[in-house]
Amino acid sequence: MQRTLCIIKPDAVEKNLQGKIIKIILDAGFQILNLKPVRLTRKQAEKFYEIHKDKMFYSELVEFMTSGSCIPIALVKENAVNDFRELIGATNPAEAKEGTIRKLYADDKQRNAVHGSDSVENGIKEVNFFFPEIELTM
Ligand code: UDP
Ligand code: MG
Repeated sequence: MQRTLCIIKPDAVEKNLQGKIIKIILDAGFQILNLKPVRLTRKQAEKFYEIHKDKMFYSELVEFMTSGSCIPIALVKENAVNDFRELIGATNPAEAKEGTIRKLYADDKQRNAVHGSDSVENGIKEVNFFFPEIELTM
């Protein structure tokens, strides 16, 4: 079993898509260990996306992620990391496969509805960024 972190991003929360997105995730066989709405501070968003700090899009990304509430969701499943990346689709919705969450609901490559961890190691780290172990129950 692997853990992976989903975040329903502010664009999707603003459009009230959280129910539809969570249904897709559950129908795909993921189990939710925990979820909670949060409004990220600038510091928290900067820390979460630290690996992108030298990228051109970093400051706008931080701006976007702090623009409204988002919903981190701790997920568990066999092969969760890769399966969740498949389920969400490419970063840019124009390149995402039919039926993926980003194809369905993303506006563009920044406002792309959901986050998904990109490795097993980051799945664990990112789940722990938002949830203490004691709050991660099956
Ligand atoms: N992003 C952006 N412009 C880009 C690439 C990425 O605004 O050219 C944003 C987008 O919200 C993306 C996030 O930065 O989801 C993290 O980028 P990454 O390359 O890690 O994409 P992801 O892993 O989310 O598909
Ligand atoms: Mg990424």
